[in-house]
Amino acid sequence: MILIDGKKTAADIRDEIRREVEVLTENGQRAPHLTAILVGEDPASWAYVKNKERQSKKVGFTSSLIHLSDHISEAELLNIIDSLNKDKSVDGYIVQLPLPSHIDDQKIIMAINPDKDVDGFHPLNLGKMIAGLPTFLPATPYGIIELILRYDIETTGKNVLIIGRSLIVGRPLSILMSQKRPAGNATVTLAHSKTKNLKNLSLKADIIITALGQPLFLKADMVKEGVVVIDAGINSIDDTSKRGYRLVGDADFDAISKKAKAITPVPGGVGPMTIAMLLKNTLKAYKKNLS
Ligand code: NDP
Repeated sequence: MILIDGKKTAADIRDEIRREVEVLTENGQRAPHLTAILVGEDPASWAYVKNKERQSKKVGFTSSLIHLSDHISEAELLNIIDSLNKDKSVDGYIVQLPLPSHIDDQKIIMAINPDKDVDGFHPLNLGKMIAGLPTFLPATPYGIIELILRYDIETTGKNVLIIGRSLIVGRPLSILMSQKRPAGNATVTLAHSKTKNLKNLSLKADIIITALGQPLFLKADMVKEGVVVIDAGINSIDDTSKRGYRLVGDADFDAISKKAKAITPVPGGVGPMTIAMLLKNTLKAYKKNLS
């Protein structure tokens, strides 16, 4: 059984980025600059943004955080986005979601300059992805594609089942893996909460990608021998440890790893890849900004 190690792969990617940034700055160029906008005090969003900031600095990027009160109006947030769009010193930025309920997420995403949309959520970038044109891929699907490539997992002609159709994970991934591209050429089934007889589908799948947010949902009796499982789920469940909880995926790792050809752990699988790919998108935005 191959353990698909996202923690190590993400570290390798960060090293590659850091080396590239070192060469650029030694040659007198400024460092790439990633900004994050965080509205409110949600602890999970705060931890995520802080982690992005830490990892940006580690690869030699300039990192800045615009932390706003959750009382900010939509118009004020749009003004800040407009100034970031015009600021040549900012190569890419992300708006941490979810936003407070009085702000329309979609209106905010639409306002982001697509050339700085390093999360790849702007409809123009999603459209380019569907058309197979160069663009910023959303970070989590991009990270899954990168794991598949770096672990030489064959996808051509394979039956791939993706469980979960959200716009940040399952839906873009289903498009990428069905395209004529590296880590593509698969026959993809995209399942969701209305899917009937999921077990019939999962038992036929060569590769299963779980992105539904249901702890330990995929059981060993739902997969065939030799399956590849890539688990994007991150779920907190109560346990008897000192901190009172632990993180588990959407797949029952302990049982499935006895049948699988390859599997990602949680934590340490898909999770660490997301920020690494965001940094990769930022480096791309920087090169475009300077050209
Ligand atoms: P969403 O809640 O946006 O989407 C969940 C999807 O799963 C929906 O399409 C839903 O169907 C489907 N679903 C829910 N229950 C079932 C079920 N019983 N059977 C089949 N399908 C089901 O979640 P996200 O995509 O945002 O996140 C999914 C998981 O991935 C979470 O655990 C999250 O924490 C994790 N995640 C990890 C990231 C990372 O690794 N960095 C990044 C983003 C997410 P329907 O559409 O019908 O409601």
